[in-house]
Amino acid sequence: MAIVVQKYGGTSVASTERILRAARRVAWKRSQGYDVVVVVSAMGDTTDSLIALAEAINGDAHPSPREMDMLMATGEQVSAALMAMALQRLGVPAVSLTGFQAGFFTDDTHRAARILDVKPDRVRKELEAGRVVVVTGFQGIDAAGDLTTLGRGGSDLTAIALAAALDAEACQIYTDVDGIYTADPRIVPNARRLEEISYEELLEMSSSGAQVMQLRSVEFARQYGVEFEVLSSLSPLPDEGGTEEKKTKVVARVNPQFQRVVTGVAVNSKVARITLLEVPDRPGIAAKLFSAFARNKIVIDDIVQSGGPGATQADISLTVAKDDLDVSLDICREVMQEWPGTQLVYDVDVAKVSIVGSGVASNYGVAATMFTALAERGINIEMITGSEISISCLVRASRAAEAVQAIHEKFGLGDGDQPVAIGTRGGEDAKAGQK
Ligand code: ADP
Ligand code: ASP
Ligand code: MG
Repeated sequence: MAIVVQKYGGTSVASTERILRAARRVAWKRSQGYDVVVVVSAMGDTTDSLIALAEAINGDAHPSPREMDMLMATGEQVSAALMAMALQRLGVPAVSLTGFQAGFFTDDTHRAARILDVKPDRVRKELEAGRVVVVTGFQGIDAAGDLTTLGRGGSDLTAIALAAALDAEACQIYTDVDGIYTADPRIVPNARRLEEISYEELLEMSSSGAQVMQLRSVEFARQYGVEFEVLSSLSPLPDEGGTEEKKTKVVARVNPQFQRVVTGVAVNSKVARITLLEVPDRPGIAAKLFSAFARNKIVIDDIVQSGGPGATQADISLTVAKDDLDVSLDICREVMQEWPGTQLVYDVDVAKVSIVGSGVASNYGVAATMFTALAERGINIEMITGSEISISCLVRASRAAEAVQAIHEKFGLGDGDQPVAIGTRGGEDAKAGQK
């Protein structure tokens, strides 16, 4: 029988009522002739509460990463067992499995473990015995037999990796929105649901701060060619007349009918900016600085170096995750000892606002439109970076939501909006927000 993997996120299993409702959706899928594997997150904000408990015990000291994983992995075990019970109550044979039982083998990077192998033999056996298999999201086991977790939001990765390992016919990510939107609907109420989005665009949206899918899960999906859907667990159930579910399909290539210049706007408020002023401008300086970051396994978000032609000094600005700020500042202070005169400043009251779209680099006027939207609201741009398919501006954190709204409106991305015309070189004008 064809296998379908369904993942239910924290809000979708936040209460016993929600778990029972999700179980009805699973039962319906099974009644359609599918073998169903369910991946669950911890209930509601359980993971945050567990982290808060650890902080209360540890104070300023860093808790042991191994013990953090022991702690955090419990959240998903609660919801998996309850989901299996909910299914059994509906008369559906079901069994819950931990990440280890489901065959998730990882490295030993606690709190951000990488999947080395998925051997879902037990999952297959249970499916053959006619059971729905409920797997705890977000967790695995390392070579020493210790529990590991896959990074925040990691249940998405569990679902996608299982879909790949089981060669599933479909992978459905159920959350509290019925798809990927042109912007976070909590910030932009008239944001529009996208019918389709490519791995590349979603990768860029995720790395630009759109938290709807875990970044690593999208990377994994692209690498293994796992197409998946994002849907709402809060939408009507099939027996309430909801057989046609609204969704966004995440695909390798977007159907030309849905292609557009700008796909969406994202905001990342979890970044901090560090600037090194008056760094010596000679070969090897950047290599030294960023090698130190690499040795400490710190991921750099964006980098900008400025300094005019012929200058003997330059300024280097970079953004990192706020969580990595303290370690990053220590790294800079250490490296700077060899550069007398260099000064270090940092800022946590910043946010990065980005536009993402496959046509960003190949159309003129995109950057101008974005910057004009900000200028019209008097929002100052403090740093600009870009990639093949995105442009990002650092702004004051207090203006971030307004910046997203202004840019979204300027490009005409919203429901019922008229997409702004953007120029393609030698071609016809394209519509920025075209479906
Ligand atoms: P789950 O608990 O199901 O994993 P998340 O909270 O991780 O759900 O992700 C869903 C949330 O992502 C939505 O409630 C929404 O506010 C947010 N989000 C951010 N950007 C977008 C976007 N572009 N499209 C849809 N949702 C988005
Ligand atoms: N419960 C974990 C978290 O909150 C994993 C997940 O929800 O995907 O990060
Ligand atoms: Mg999530």
